[in-house]
Amino acid sequence: MNDRIDSTARYRALDAAHHIHPFSDTAELNGAGSRVIVKADGVYLWDSDGTRIIDGMAGLWCVNVGYGRRELLDAASEQMQALPYYNTFFRTTHPPVVELSDMLAQLAPACFNRFLYCNSGSEANDTALRAVHRYWALQGKPHKRYVIARRNAYHGSTIAGATLGGMAYVHEQMPSKMEHVAHIDQPYWFGEGGEMDADAFGAERASQLEAKIVELGADNVAAFIGEPFQGAGGVIFPSSTYWPEIERICRKHDVLFIADEVIGGFGRTGEWFAHRHFGFEPDVITMAKGLTSGYIPMGAVGLSDRIANVIVEGGEFNHGFTYSGHPVAAAVAVANLKLLRDEGIVARVKNDAGPYFQKQLREALSGHPIVGEIHGAGLVAGIQLAEDPAARKRFDNGGEVGTLCRNFSFNDNLVMRASGDRMLLSPPLVVTHDEVNEIVARAKAAIDATAKALNIR
Ligand code: PMP
Repeated sequence: MNDRIDSTARYRALDAAHHIHPFSDTAELNGAGSRVIVKADGVYLWDSDGTRIIDGMAGLWCVNVGYGRRELLDAASEQMQALPYYNTFFRTTHPPVVELSDMLAQLAPACFNRFLYCNSGSEANDTALRAVHRYWALQGKPHKRYVIARRNAYHGSTIAGATLGGMAYVHEQMPSKMEHVAHIDQPYWFGEGGEMDADAFGAERASQLEAKIVELGADNVAAFIGEPFQGAGGVIFPSSTYWPEIERICRKHDVLFIADEVIGGFGRTGEWFAHRHFGFEPDVITMAKGLTSGYIPMGAVGLSDRIANVIVEGGEFNHGFTYSGHPVAAAVAVANLKLLRDEGIVARVKNDAGPYFQKQLREALSGHPIVGEIHGAGLVAGIQLAEDPAARKRFDNGGEVGTLCRNFSFNDNLVMRASGDRMLLSPPLVVTHDEVNEIVARAKAAIDATAKALNIR
């Protein structure tokens, strides 16, 4: 035990001395000390003091097959021995990237048959923009360069990803952004719907896309990008009127539709891709996270035939990375997709684990004095905290309330994330019913403790 405490203290001291954490107030974190995670299995993590934590977030929405899958380790180790690295620039290819591309073509909707690779979700969105701009240039319409995104969307942290993302607190720290990006409002009815009913509001928010296209001139607009459901923005599911209208507007004005499937892809909603859950058809799909279940970094972009054929026939496309289609990452992705498919993990999210999770969450939390709404499908959920749920009145200090709730949950060894005043859950797709019960019970305990701390009963 003393060894553990010593090593925890040592890790914390070295971490504080030399490591700057993503999206963190590092000085504040160093004062408190980071939690040191040392191992994981299934849906559980263990810290350096031996404490077991249940991971209600699948890491960062990515460990879809759960931790500790031997098949992925073996795939990586065999590939490292056979061919640890080679690029795909010099008129070469290698078996893992070929296998992966073939599998993705089978798993994605029929019109997606060609894929480009990168190392993250941010790079996937950057790559999507490069491809979209290339497509329009080859079509003789280079002036189609604007990309329309949404406020409170998350598309990554590179300059392009963070510009596309509509997070005000990120933009504040970006004196220089990517050119030709415009934003419209998000379809967040609880917070922004006012007196409108949810469906009318969804249609109104979608109509902002048309207004923006008209304002910029359809001849100048290349694409619209959206997460099928906003993930980091709070697991916001738009009302059913929203996506059909967005799709109609994109088609009418010949604006390409990019679906950011970085969180939604690979089974999260019970479909292989979240746009299938909502029933729309994008032109470009960006992927990462669940592609490898986070075991190794990898991102990808799927181009529908309409775009892919033009780019393929259009001469050299001057884009790519040293690690595009990295053989070890591709081998892990193939092993991961086989598990998701052959063990029926995605199907189980749709037919069993997903409905069970959604039901348990609603049974535990509907009518709770500080729960305003619960959004989600499959194994993803956003829980809106509110001062007066019936009146849709949010807390004035919602961010602090979310953090308070997140801290209760953290201290009770459930990883649940806060996005402002919404609590987010997205467990590994292999979660059992008992583990769902444990996650829901702990989430409720954290929300109860929050209500108590605020003197709301
Ligand atoms: N798109 C979405 C929808 C995301 O949620 C994220 C990451 N959370 C990204 C893009 C960026 O991915 P990465 O952090 O791998 O660059």
